[in-house]
Amino acid sequence: MALQTLQDEIRYCERCGISFLWEVEAQKRQQGEPAPTLCPGCRRLLPPPGRERGVVKWYNRRRRYGFIVRPGQPDVFVHGSHLEESRHLRPGDLVEFQVVMGDQGPMATSCRVLAHYPDWDE
Ligand SMILES: [Zn+2]
Repeated sequence: MALQTLQDEIRYCERCGISFLWEVEAQKRQQGEPAPTLCPGCRRLLPPPGRERGVVKWYNRRRRYGFIVRPGQPDVFVHGSHLEESRHLRPGDLVEFQVVMGDQGPMATSCRVLAHYPDWDE
């Protein structure tokens, strides 16, 4: 079995084009996974694979459902039973979620609030 010597590698971000170092430590953690295509900054900004981000359009607390606006795509339905951590959503909240096909069309699951709309105080 050939022992592969790992060394820091310079890579270029697919999204913003800046160069970043893919360090040996990170390569080890990766364990055969493909090399990162995005710089650390873009990785922070973008949702992880399979997840999307959007902004809550409206949410009915009593009925426990609402809609999320997505960039360049139709609004997506969210039900209160698919919220992580928070009990309710508020208009303007920045959320991250996974889209699955429900009986009524696409819906958001494992929906997590990344940032609350700042102008709301209760
Ligand atoms: Zn980048």
